[in-house]
Amino acid sequence: MNVEKTGGRLFGSGRCSSLSGLPGAAPVVHRMVEAMSQLQEEKAQLQEELVALRERLAVCDSDQQATSTQLQNQVEHLKQKLISQAQEVSRLRSELGGTDLEKHRDLLIVENERLRQEMRRCEAELQDMRAKPAVPCTGCEHSQESAQLRDKLSQLQLEVAENKGLLSELNLEVQQKTDRLAEVELRLKDCLAEKAQEEERLSRRLRDSHETIASLRAQSPPVKYVMKTVEVESSKTKQALSESQARNQHLQEQVAMQRQVLKEMEQQLQSSHQLTAQLRAQITMYESELERAHGQMLEEMQSLEEDKNRAIEEAFARAQVEMKAVHENLAGVRTNLLTLQPALRTLTNDYNGLKRQVRGFPLLLQEALKSVKAEIGQAIDEVNSNNQELLRKYRRELQLRKKCHNELVRLKGNIRVIARVRPVTKEDGEGPEATNAVTFDPDDDSIIHLLHKGKPVSFELDKVFSPKASQQDVFQEVQALITSCIDGFNVCIFAYGQTGAGKTYTMEGTLENPGINQRALQLLFSEVQEKASDWEYTITVSAAEIYNEVLRDLLGQEPQEKLEIRLCPDGSGQLYVPGLTEFQVQSVEDINKVFEFGHTNRTTEFTNLNEHSSRSHALLIVTVHGVDGSTGLRTTGKLNLVDLAGSERVGKSGAEGSRLREAQHINKSLSALGDVIAALRSRQGHVPFRNSKLTYLLQDSLSGDSKTLMVVQVSPVEKNTSETLYSLKFAERVRSVELGPGSRRAELVSWSSQEHLEWEPACQTPQPSARAHSAPGSGTTSRPGSIRRKLQPSGKSRPLPV
Ligand code: ADP
Ligand code: MG
Repeated sequence: MNVEKTGGRLFGSGRCSSLSGLPGAAPVVHRMVEAMSQLQEEKAQLQEELVALRERLAVCDSDQQATSTQLQNQVEHLKQKLISQAQEVSRLRSELGGTDLEKHRDLLIVENERLRQEMRRCEAELQDMRAKPAVPCTGCEHSQESAQLRDKLSQLQLEVAENKGLLSELNLEVQQKTDRLAEVELRLKDCLAEKAQEEERLSRRLRDSHETIASLRAQSPPVKYVMKTVEVESSKTKQALSESQARNQHLQEQVAMQRQVLKEMEQQLQSSHQLTAQLRAQITMYESELERAHGQMLEEMQSLEEDKNRAIEEAFARAQVEMKAVHENLAGVRTNLLTLQPALRTLTNDYNGLKRQVRGFPLLLQEALKSVKAEIGQAIDEVNSNNQELLRKYRRELQLRKKCHNELVRLKGNIRVIARVRPVTKEDGEGPEATNAVTFDPDDDSIIHLLHKGKPVSFELDKVFSPKASQQDVFQEVQALITSCIDGFNVCIFAYGQTGAGKTYTMEGTLENPGINQRALQLLFSEVQEKASDWEYTITVSAAEIYNEVLRDLLGQEPQEKLEIRLCPDGSGQLYVPGLTEFQVQSVEDINKVFEFGHTNRTTEFTNLNEHSSRSHALLIVTVHGVDGSTGLRTTGKLNLVDLAGSERVGKSGAEGSRLREAQHINKSLSALGDVIAALRSRQGHVPFRNSKLTYLLQDSLSGDSKTLMVVQVSPVEKNTSETLYSLKFAERVRSVELGPGSRRAELVSWSSQEHLEWEPACQTPQPSARAHSAPGSGTTSRPGSIRRKLQPSGKSRPLPV
């Protein structure tokens, strides 16, 4: 309205002044007025159109505002929805997801723990049951039950392991579901982000639209200006008209432009509507998608829930079944316990009874011990008395045996003399000198007949062995003497006779056919072994030689050494030979070694052993020490096996030098032997043991209770009858000598041998006056053992009680 007034006024005043001043200008004015009115109409029309446009713009504006508000509202609404949905999701997650599963898992863990505890308890019970002594339970019903329980326990353990596996599977499943949920949430978030971006884009476009509208509004003043220009003063018509026409043109262009803009805006509006519709559709789509996702999620959650519930139910059912089984087992155990209780009660009663008995046991034991002690004492007394009786009997037996032995000895004589006639040998030669001069009594084996210088002479000895007699036959005769040595008697066995009569053959024998020496030791070994259960025996051996009254050790390292016979320094009156080697022997092999050693010693020392041996006395001294384990009785017996020097008399005229000296020594010693035996026989107070080394050495073995056996070796041939006669006479004399009654050399039963010696007038002792070398040929004698081996002596100088 203001614009119109101002324009009208300006235009009216200007134009009126210019028109009224020009002549003939009425038609022009008229046209101008018409044009003006036309223009005014147009102007009014334009104004109307402008108003209409303004109105439409305002409408559009309000529409756009409404649309934008609506869109904003929608966006707000969607935001709200999104927030609520996110809340819903979180709520759902908190409600369903982790919590329940965790709860379920916790429940399962608790159940599992409980089952584990139960299992541990069961195992402990089982171990307790195992720890209990197994023997009493063997075969009882509880052992079966416990075995069943153990089986069930192992089953339960297996099931628990399966449940654990199931639980871990469920946990895995829950984890997978949770991952899927997270995935769906992620997708939802992406959708929301896209939606927010779209909203952002829409709001941006809305803002652009607002700005366009604002710019359009700002372009309105030029129209007003045009209108103002239209209302120019009528005075300046043409110019004004042209101007106004130009303006009009411009306005029209402007209008056209505006129209164009409007059109564009309308198009934009339309497109914005379309966009909005699109967005709406998209939102709807998103919403439906969201709905679908939600539904899917709910479905999944439901299925998860169902799975979970199902798994829980299954686990629960299984656990229940297991529990039921365990409970049943427990009930069984309880019932067992209940059934055991009476047994326990009876056991307790038994135990109490036993306890009472145990309390009374020491007394009972004492009484029992007392009675047992008394019984044992009685038994011991009985045994003792029995033992005493036995000992007494044993001693009596010993004495009886001794008595018998002494009687036998008395009957046979302490000195027994036997003769052994050797067979005629090649060495005896041929002719009348080699004819047989010895005959025997077929009815009496103690008689020997000798044809000496055509006269028959007979001798009676204890026994006569013909040339047919074997080594064993001879040994049979001496066997009893040798065994008495084990009983503690001293024994001497002499081989007497002229050289070549067979002394060495009888004593030593040959390798194939050993003599008394080896057989005696063999017998001693077997006897000792028989008695080994009661007696412990030690057998030692020494070998010595007396040549020219010099005593030598045949087993020593230095056979040349002269040995002396001394009194024991302990005052026992016994004799011993310091330095005489003794070997402890246990077998025939040992004996052979000893013999061989002694023989080798002799061979080494003397170039002509045969000659030497015929002129020396060879002694094998066997000592038997015995201890009776039960009585403590100790015995010592000595067996002296003597191969005497040749007894042949050496003719006074034929002997000279060393040979004479030898003969004198042999003569002296053999005479001394005869003297000693005669003195003993006649029971003289003085027995000249010291007159020779031989008798001095054999003092103990010749006197008292000792036994002597003399084997008189006889050559059967004619040429030796003189020496044979001499030997047989010597033998007969010796045989008539009586020694004292025999006594055993035992510590428990010992007598002094001297007590039994009584004085008897001395009888004439034969004195061999001369000796002749008459018997060669003994050099072919082979002796047992041929290998020289060094033996370790058992003691170099042990006391030798001779
Ligand atoms: P001595 O030792 O008395 O001098 P020997 O024992 O050496 O005598 O014997 C002389 C010889 O007679 C030896 O060859 C020996 O073998 C032999 N001889 C001795 N006695 C017998 C006998 N009983 N049987 C067979 N031969 C014997
Ligand atoms: Mg000889």
